[in-house]
Amino acid sequence: GSAPAQSVLLPGATLGVLGGGQLGRMFAHAAQAMGYFTVVLDPDPVSPAGLVSHHHIQTGYEDPDGLARLAALSDAVTTEFENVPAASLAALAGQCPVAPAARAVAVAQDRAQEKAHFVRCGVPCAPYAVIETAAQLAAISGDLLPGILKTARMGYDGKGQVRVATPAELAAAWDSVGQVPCVLEKMLPLALECSVIVARGADGSVVNLPVQRNLHRNGILAVTEVYEQNLPPALAQQAVAAAKSIATGLHYVGVLCVEFFVLQDGSLVVNEIAPRPHNSGHYSQNACDVSQFELQVRALAGLPLVQPRQHSAAVMLNLLGDLWFAHGDVAHTPPWDQVLALPGTHLHLYGKTQAKHGRKMGHLNITAATAEAARATALQAAALLG
Ligand code: ADP
Ligand code: MG
Repeated sequence: GSAPAQSVLLPGATLGVLGGGQLGRMFAHAAQAMGYFTVVLDPDPVSPAGLVSHHHIQTGYEDPDGLARLAALSDAVTTEFENVPAASLAALAGQCPVAPAARAVAVAQDRAQEKAHFVRCGVPCAPYAVIETAAQLAAISGDLLPGILKTARMGYDGKGQVRVATPAELAAAWDSVGQVPCVLEKMLPLALECSVIVARGADGSVVNLPVQRNLHRNGILAVTEVYEQNLPPALAQQAVAAAKSIATGLHYVGVLCVEFFVLQDGSLVVNEIAPRPHNSGHYSQNACDVSQFELQVRALAGLPLVQPRQHSAAVMLNLLGDLWFAHGDVAHTPPWDQVLALPGTHLHLYGKTQAKHGRKMGHLNITAATAEAARATALQAAALLG
């Protein structure tokens, strides 16, 4: 059915979130700071968001009873991870307001639908083909090679991707992922990667955070840098306009992250979208007057979206579990006291009970008056973390 016109939920109302990871935790913190009550649904008894929320419903994401309890406790519900079953969102939407809508999340969950949406919006993306059948595999044009085979669903942090140079490698790669639906993308000559966070309200208003420049290591975001001139201004404007048109084309309500590639010829290509706050937007917690999580609260509650202003240059360093093993196989707490002695360092840890290699344990936001100062401090922090 058609979504009911959203009324404003003032502080004192209860906001629900499907998923209990770090993004849900930071959403709960932002909501609570503004006087909202929060409820989290996540099966993990020690989920980062469940640990800090007023209510924690400890069931699976598809459990009808759990979803009904979430809807009963919440005045509105959002999600914090993109692989939340769209059917669960649709079921919830019959019981309470849900944003973003199941239909928009479903597009972001499927690389084939996602790319079709980019094409509809007139935003350039990498040349690609959908591979769902052996016939489609056999018909792949050599123009797409070398390329990257990506599973259409469930990929994140570089998982579900295989780089292929020849038709034989492509066939072997498709076998290796179990012949599930995939997209094959042409490998593009990247100069850099960037992303934009936009927030769109039910009234159609859209605001954006400044364009973030991102550095990945082993397929995982490692560093985000945000300051004046981190990108040519014309390119940044183009990225913001593209992100807004992608959100508007989805009738999106909530926070959306749009990832881009800048190619060596200077052109901008959209990569993928995430229907939620994003790791690359974490700097906004300390460097902007409105964070991406406050934007998520405002959009969900139907509060006004105001254009955020960045007041400090920022470098965000992701803190992976590997840092706990910098000195051997036994986990050691990194020297946070030394890191926090550096000016402008803001530590965010997600309360995860166990450090593991490759696991996102937290992030460090470094703010300063100038890009040079922020980068210098980031280098010092990185040296301390070893
Ligand atoms: P994930 O969902 O894992 O973030 P992405 O599609 O963003 O998957 O791919 C992960 C990384 O792989 C990108 O950030 C980029 O560095 C690289 N990559 C992905 N697609 C391409 C491409 N078509 N050409 C070159 N590099 C790519
Ligand atoms: Mg990505």
